[in-house]
Amino acid sequence: MDKCIPLVDELVDREKRHLNYLRISITDRCNLRCLYCVPEGRIPKLGHEDILSYEEILRLVRIGIKLGIRKVRITGGEPLVRKGVLDLLGELTRIRELEDVSMTTNGVLLAANAQRIFDAGIHRINVSLDSLNPEKYAQITGYHQFDRVWEAIQLVREIGFSPIKINVVAMRGINDDEILDFGRLSLDYPFHIRFIEYMPIGNSRTSSREQIMTPEIQETITALGTLIPVDSGNNDGPARRYRIAGAQGEIGFISALSHHFCSRCNRLRLTADGKLRACLLSDRHESLKDLLRMGGSDKQLAEIFRTAVRHKAAKHQLCPNGVTTVKGQMQGIGG
Ligand code: SAM
Repeated sequence: MDKCIPLVDELVDREKRHLNYLRISITDRCNLRCLYCVPEGRIPKLGHEDILSYEEILRLVRIGIKLGIRKVRITGGEPLVRKGVLDLLGELTRIRELEDVSMTTNGVLLAANAQRIFDAGIHRINVSLDSLNPEKYAQITGYHQFDRVWEAIQLVREIGFSPIKINVVAMRGINDDEILDFGRLSLDYPFHIRFIEYMPIGNSRTSSREQIMTPEIQETITALGTLIPVDSGNNDGPARRYRIAGAQGEIGFISALSHHFCSRCNRLRLTADGKLRACLLSDRHESLKDLLRMGGSDKQLAEIFRTAVRHKAAKHQLCPNGVTTVKGQMQGIGG
């Protein structure tokens, strides 16, 4: 199919939002235990049979495409811990209707897989990195993996991934003293640094006391120079993008709480256990797995996509420094 063919656009909700972006969590498992993501103690894991197979995921993607999905991101948990993920990536990039296939990773297993990911046709990547200080990195993630992740970031640059987005969850008293260091990275490297406001989801070990809102981060960053807005493309989603004059890279802000971007939200999320969520910050979901496994037709499954879209809230209910109303855990939903 020609990529210029207009979207089918069946997934348009009551707010006239075109939901053309599917984020797929392929596993709830992760090889890090980030403070802001993972709760205290042992977390119950999904069983092998609870998780959608790659065939099931691909079938749902094809159904989504018929309804207008044009962009897919693979996430988790940590996607690189699931066996066979490179084959899935290859299958996805071969689907001509998909204009964008990308992945979010913590980078721990990235170096070993980077060339094969690139060869599978994934040329954009998001790496989560919340500290440039190895000790602090270990304090945030629970593991001494900073050097490995940093080397992987350098490697993906050499291989030619572009853009390389670096996701930073800014937390007061934890990594707020590194905001300028991250900003400087965008001067020296072609990286897109994206500061993400901490969202209180589930029962993580971070609280609203640690939350830092975008205006405060922006204020700090301006010590490096004026933030010049960068035009966002149609498929860009919620990040507000900027560049400092002369910088190789960009700085972006994902401000789910201080600037609700709900009116521009184009996302649906498929969880590892086959639930379709129309809003990250609402526990409402529709289950696709049972119908998939009971021999449901494409038409019936498509109806579930439509139901999710019909019930997408106009706006999420979280506010800065508020308490969470979301029971699901981030590593299960897929960030
Ligand atoms: N394991 C992969 C990784 O670390 O990038 C993918 C999954 S992770 C859940 C996806 C993104 O969600 C990461 O960039 C992470 O920083 C972000 N994230 C997780 N919990 C969050 C929270 N409570 N608030 C804001 N961002 C969060």
